[in-house]
Amino acid sequence: MSYKPARILTFKCPQCGKSMQVFLQKVSACSHIQPYQGICQCGYFMRHATGQKDAVADYLAAPDGQWTHHH
Ligand SMILES: [Zn+2]
Repeated sequence: MSYKPARILTFKCPQCGKSMQVFLQKVSACSHIQPYQGICQCGYFMRHATGQKDAVADYLAAPDGQWTHHH
């Protein structure tokens, strides 16, 4: 297996409708979750994650900067 998550993902901003990029965060070295975040030109802050379903839900539900991953 040589799966590597994309470093950058592109989304459509829900606020202004333009495309924006989110960047892979290095907060977690584990394979359960790959968290992304980015800020649109309009100021919209977007978080996204791929990986294990519950880890992703935890990440997206956590207040900014207060997310930690527990095994
Ligand atoms: Zn925007």
